[in-house]
Amino acid sequence: MSDQPVPLLDLKAQYAAIRDEVREAVDRVLESQRFILGSEVEALEREVAAYSECEHGIGVSSGTDALLIALMALDIKPGDEVITTSYSFFATAGCVTRLGARPVFVDVEPETFNIDPCGLEAALTDRTRAIIPVHLFGQMAEMGPIMDFARQHGLFVIEDAAQAIGAEYQGQRAGSIGHIACFSFFPSKNLGGIGDGGMVTTHDPELAERMRLLRGHGAKPKYYHKMVGGNFRLDAIQAAVLRVKLKYLDRWTAGRQVNAEAYQRLFREVGLAGDGDSPYPVVLPRDAGYGRHIYNQFVVRVAQRDGLMAYLKERHIGSEVYYPLPLHLQPCFAELGYREGDLANSERAASEVLALPIYPELTGDMLACVVGAVARFYDGKTV
Ligand SMILES: *Cc1c(COP(=O)(O)O)cnc(C)c1O
Repeated sequence: MSDQPVPLLDLKAQYAAIRDEVREAVDRVLESQRFILGSEVEALEREVAAYSECEHGIGVSSGTDALLIALMALDIKPGDEVITTSYSFFATAGCVTRLGARPVFVDVEPETFNIDPCGLEAALTDRTRAIIPVHLFGQMAEMGPIMDFARQHGLFVIEDAAQAIGAEYQGQRAGSIGHIACFSFFPSKNLGGIGDGGMVTTHDPELAERMRLLRGHGAKPKYYHKMVGGNFRLDAIQAAVLRVKLKYLDRWTAGRQVNAEAYQRLFREVGLAGDGDSPYPVVLPRDAGYGRHIYNQFVVRVAQRDGLMAYLKERHIGSEVYYPLPLHLQPCFAELGYREGDLANSERAASEVLALPIYPELTGDMLACVVGAVARFYDGKTV
């Protein structure tokens, strides 16, 4: 094993393998000179909906806009409350606030980083309208108890599936369980475009129609506006490229899963992680065991996280902290009145997590290189 640079993500490696097909797809759109919505977008909508076992797919401008449109379609408005996780990308909660509603944060399960269904009851008020579970890092939230709770209390469920296309919970695909689901095609997601893009999915024809309208300023027909929407359209060029990539998605996911297994083995072999009580410096991510984990990220908890991150950076090994500050402690949410200590698992995760390279093109040597560097960092240190 020789030391070599290992980036957190290498999209050039992916592109090299599908270059001709991607260029052909882009060319097709250029020749058509139809850039907004159109047949490529419609085809992608059908394909992603089918892949995610949903009736309807509506292509939108980003994962963030997918969340915004979903909330708008459910008529979430000032005074409403939306329960969500305190540990996610900002957009999950930001969209709630943008509509004048209030995000109510529930702590996460320490081992999966997903919303803890046991926290829902305490977050419920007579203003609660919806729950947004996030399928973080590629593993679905515990949808069974979440859906039960939502049914009992008449709440909508919006799945934030931005990191989880193709993930499964007890045989059901991410996006197929809640009332609406939101996907992101940001380049670093498992299905990533050549720019921004996203999709909302649903089984409900009325919600689908509302979201379709909202995507184009609420107009139907053109210039007659039933609702106040926005420009949340997906570009044809993105759809054409995403359709090429969707064909490879299962293969790429399998590659990520193989890499995750390799990490599990390698970290144990070098004695950095284990199942016993002895204080291991690395806690490996846990597969909850209820379905397909697509490993958008491979996130470990580590001792001396910031020191390790700097050490890896010096050795040209990419890593990243998702996320350094939980949502309930973000300065922009100060008015909500949360304090440090309110959501202990999220706060602890924020100080301990580190995402390691997991993309499918990684070689066995590269994986060994990452683990070797982590081992050298802890060598001789007491943790
Ligand atoms: C990426 C992401 C989003 C937002 O998607 P964009 O396409 O970047 O707007 C929302 N939620 C989660 C959990 C994400 O990871």
